[in-house]
Amino acid sequence: MPKLPTTLIDRFQRRVDYVRLSVTDRCDFRCVYCMAEKMTFVPKPQVLTLEEHFQLAQAFTELGVRKIRLTGGEPLIRTDILTLVKRLGRLPSLDQLVLTTNGSQLQRMATQLRDYGVKRVNISLDSLQARRFRQLTRHGHLDQVLAGIDAAVDAGFERVKLNAVILKGRNEDEVLDLVDFAHGRGIDIAFIEEMPLGRIEEHDRALSLCSSEELRAIIGQRYSMHSLGEPGGSDGPARYFGLPGSTTRVGFISPHSENFCHLCNRVRVTAEGRLLLCLGNEHSVDLRAILRQPHFTLDSLKSAIVEAMALKPERHHFDNEGEPQIVRFMNATGG
Ligand code: SAM
Ligand code: SF4
Repeated sequence: MPKLPTTLIDRFQRRVDYVRLSVTDRCDFRCVYCMAEKMTFVPKPQVLTLEEHFQLAQAFTELGVRKIRLTGGEPLIRTDILTLVKRLGRLPSLDQLVLTTNGSQLQRMATQLRDYGVKRVNISLDSLQARRFRQLTRHGHLDQVLAGIDAAVDAGFERVKLNAVILKGRNEDEVLDLVDFAHGRGIDIAFIEEMPLGRIEEHDRALSLCSSEELRAIIGQRYSMHSLGEPGGSDGPARYFGLPGSTTRVGFISPHSENFCHLCNRVRVTAEGRLLLCLGNEHSVDLRAILRQPHFTLDSLKSAIVEAMALKPERHHFDNEGEPQIVRFMNATGG
C-alpha cells in the first residue's frame, strides 16, 4: 500500500480538516423544514456501531482532521452516546470536539459532555413561543429546550450558539426576540437559510425562504451590528457580526444568497457510514462496507478516505433556480 498522507487535500486544493459525523438519523423532533411527518429511518443493523464511529474518527484524525462535530438526527438520543464522546474527547490530535443538538437532552447531559471534552455546542431554537415551537418541531417542548440551553450556559462550554431557521410567515416576527434572547445570555446566534434537502409537503421551501439580507435588515432596526470579517476560518461559512458592548455574535449562513464553496473544508459521514463529499451533491463513498470487511484495517479505511477526496465536487447549486431538490433529508445528511 502506498504511504498514506497526513492531510486531506481535494482536487481544488481545499484542505479538509473538519468532519461532521451523524451518529443517528433518528430524532425526537420532526422539524417541518428537516423531516416529513412520517419518516422511514435506517434499520438499526445498518447504522454504524459506536465502535465503528470511533474507528472513523480515529482514521480522520490520523489524516489531519482537527475538528469533529457530532450531529444527526438528534445525537443525544443515541443510546450510550456519552461513551463515544468520552473516547473521542481523548483522541490526541483532535482540537475541537463539538456538537449540534436540538437541546432536548441537554439538561441532563450538558455537564458530562463538557467534562468529556466537548468544546462548543450549537442548539437549534426557532421560536420562543411554546405553541409555535411545538408546531415547527411537531414534537418538541420549548420548556425542555430552554432548560437545556441554560444547562449548557452553566456547564461552561467555550461557546454556546443558537441555530435558527426562519421561515417567512411562520417565525420571521421572532427574529429580534431570538437575538435579544441570545444577547441576554451572552451566547451566539446564527440564522440559517432553509436548504432544499429532502422533499416535504408541509410548506413550499421557495416561498418561505427568508434571506440573510432580509434578516440583517430586521435586526438592524434594533441593533447596530459591526462585521467581524469574511466567512471562513474556524467559523466556517457563517458571516458574523458583533453587537455593541456584547460578546454575542450574530451569524448568517446563506447557502442561497452567498456561495462559500471555495472555502469548504468539511465532509460528512451519514449514520450508515456513507461519506458525503458535499452537502448539496450526492457524491459519496460507502465506508461501512470497508469497516465491515472481515480483515478490516484502519489503513484500508484511511486509504478509502484519501481516494474519496477526488470526488469532492467544486460547489453546490442551491442558488440555481429550477435545480432539482436533493432527495436526502437533512437528518440523513448530518446537518
Ligand atoms: N438535531 C440536531 C439539531 O436540530 O440541532 C442536529 C441535527 S439538525 C439536522 C442540524 C441543523 O440543521 C439544525 O440547526 C437545523 O435547524 C438545520 N436544518 C435541518 N434541516 C434544514 C434545512 N432543510 N435547511 C437548513 N437547515 C436545516
Ligand atoms: Fe431533529 Fe434536528 Fe431535524 Fe429538528 S432539525 S427534526 S431536531 S434532526
